[in-house]
Amino acid sequence: MKYLIVLLTFLMGLGIFAQKRPVLIPMPHALEWRTGQFELDKKTSLFYEEELEKEAQYLANILNQATAFGLKVLDKIEEGENQIVLKIDPAIEENKEAYQLNVSMEKVVLTGASATGVFRGIQTLLQLFPPSIYGNESSEEIWKIPVVDIADSPKFQWRGMLLDCSRHFMKKDFVKRYLDLLAYHKMNTLHWHITEDQGWRMEIKKYPKLTEVGAWRTEKDGSRYGGFYSQEDIKEIVQYAADRHINVVPEIELPGHSQAALAAYPEYSCTGGPFEVETEWGVFREIYCAGNDGTFEFLENILTEVIELFPSPYIHIGGDEVPKYRWEQCDKCQKRIEKENLQDTHELQSYFIKRIENFLTSKNKQLIGWDEILEGGLAEGAIVQSWRGMNGAVEAVKSGHPAIVSPTSHAYFDYDLKSIDLEKVYSFDPIPKDIDEKQKALIWGGECNMWSERAPQELVDSKVFPRILAMTEVLWSYPMVRDYEQFYQRVQRHYPRLKTMGVSYGFETMPVHLEHYFQPDGNAEIRLNAGTPELKLCYTLDGSTPNEESILYRIPIEPKDSCQLKVQAYKEGKTYGEVFEQVYEPHQVLGKQPDLLTTYSNHYTGGGDKALVNGLRGSTDFRDGNWQGYQYDDLVTIFDLRDQNITFSEVSVGFYQYNNSWIFLPTALIIEVSQDGKTFKELANIPNDISPKQRGKFLHQLQATFPKQSANYLKVTAKNIQHCPDWHEAAGSKAWLFVDEILEVIKITTQKHIEKVCL
Ligand SMILES: [Zn+2]
Repeated sequence: MKYLIVLLTFLMGLGIFAQKRPVLIPMPHALEWRTGQFELDKKTSLFYEEELEKEAQYLANILNQATAFGLKVLDKIEEGENQIVLKIDPAIEENKEAYQLNVSMEKVVLTGASATGVFRGIQTLLQLFPPSIYGNESSEEIWKIPVVDIADSPKFQWRGMLLDCSRHFMKKDFVKRYLDLLAYHKMNTLHWHITEDQGWRMEIKKYPKLTEVGAWRTEKDGSRYGGFYSQEDIKEIVQYAADRHINVVPEIELPGHSQAALAAYPEYSCTGGPFEVETEWGVFREIYCAGNDGTFEFLENILTEVIELFPSPYIHIGGDEVPKYRWEQCDKCQKRIEKENLQDTHELQSYFIKRIENFLTSKNKQLIGWDEILEGGLAEGAIVQSWRGMNGAVEAVKSGHPAIVSPTSHAYFDYDLKSIDLEKVYSFDPIPKDIDEKQKALIWGGECNMWSERAPQELVDSKVFPRILAMTEVLWSYPMVRDYEQFYQRVQRHYPRLKTMGVSYGFETMPVHLEHYFQPDGNAEIRLNAGTPELKLCYTLDGSTPNEESILYRIPIEPKDSCQLKVQAYKEGKTYGEVFEQVYEPHQVLGKQPDLLTTYSNHYTGGGDKALVNGLRGSTDFRDGNWQGYQYDDLVTIFDLRDQNITFSEVSVGFYQYNNSWIFLPTALIIEVSQDGKTFKELANIPNDISPKQRGKFLHQLQATFPKQSANYLKVTAKNIQHCPDWHEAAGSKAWLFVDEILEVIKITTQKHIEKVCL
């Protein structure tokens, strides 16, 4: 027997039994598993200290729904066994969200530094039970949890999710359901985005047209879309959140993203309108007039009602993506610039924000804005939310302002898994580099942002989950050493919980990651890496839809000619994710090192210097990794062909247009050749004949043909349109040029090009 115990202890030390233990997400700060179990049964009593009545009721509701035990809930703690005890001890830690959870075979004692700490601890306690604890299938079985000691508190005080209920309206019960899901995972902030160009969602008594007009849009097919939250709905949501120790921060966008409000009250714009509630996605030039005092009165009246409804100490005012076009043209705005001694429209924006901040401060509220509020000077007490990378946060904390981080690189959950997968979120470090200890303390925390342009309510789950599990662990636990593999295993075991919670979670990662190499002989090689080790990849090269009978990927693919690769991943016999597609087109300068005379954006590299000659074509998703982006600048590149005895009579270049995202086709493609690399002769100057006004996302190839050439140097120039044109919503903003490939081909098609077989 003694040996058996020694053996058992040894095996447990090895973690043989570890998988029997519940998985906890986010991981607590300190925990020690012990032997034995606590059993919850009909006779278990729930005791609580007086001020914890709500928390006790919350826990009892969940336990009773799952177990049907009808636990006794008592507000006077008595000595005894078979108890769950909730209490407060402010001495356990300074952090009010801290708690200690001690489970013995006799009782469960949960001690919080405050009621909030107790509430966070309740979530850990629930995770110790089987997943069915979140369900409502009443069962008489005995509910067991392991004996354990946990001491826990969060690393960051601000752990939030932004929910955009403006682009797509989400029902009140859906918002409440998200408050539950946030609570289960110890998040404490709902950043509620309720005004936008495409819809104003909050009832304002003083301005009824905001919802009568501003909450509804006429879609292209003529249908009406919209909805709003009445003030009663808002009270209900705010209370529901408060019961879960979640703060709701409303975001009232100004001075931009305000077209829905201006559709209702055009007198507060620069031109007087009229406007429609917007139906496209993007950034729009109709913004509040900064020269009209009536605008400020209007906004202050709105904010007065907002402040009455939201107890949050913070009010988010947006402040992002403000095209200055209207202000440049507006007499009133120009007069304001003159009168207030401002340099330009950037300082006018700063004036706008500061004036709103003064008002909020007078009401004891603190202003939060996106990092654009730094431009032209930051308002005195403002908090900056950094989204365009981490620089906004760095600048804010260096000037003594608090910052919240939610960079597009890690925190934008509307982005697909190609850009941000579970592992990427898990690798997120909310603390920027190069700041000192004092400045680090000003990083309050982070958020994941669920923008809803492409996500109506029914798609939100699959975008938020499982990625939010990584975010909650980053913000609560802040693992210094990120062991993704171990976290991934816990996520797998967390899925049954999500299922019981009714979450339609999505995938962890793209099923396929493509890697591209040039072998020493110049031939290309495509490697497919499965997103997770257990995936099986099947592919075709002729563009047909792959199935489990298609070629099983084992060794790298060496395409000799154009092909359309399609890959389907399988997990345990079921398809995992959508079909991955990649068009591959070899050509004469394939793999040639280009001499790039202009600089591509480090956000859109397309894969680096050789991106334009790697054979990999871009898709209509401009974030697919194959597109190289140039903001304002032209693309100018030279190829040194001296070591290649090639002749060519055609150069084609692939471009992309999606003017909602400020991406335009070039105005022209110019092809030049040279023998000495200094003097160039123009072979072709091809104007683009597709209007920059054309909406939607599409690819377009510009093709230059000329008499057969043999040259030492080839120069390719694509002219950037430079600014969004006057008719554009973001008129005057720097435009993007997106390029995927420069194809240099021999006009006379050789046998090699006729063959369609790739292998
Ligand atoms: Zn104006």
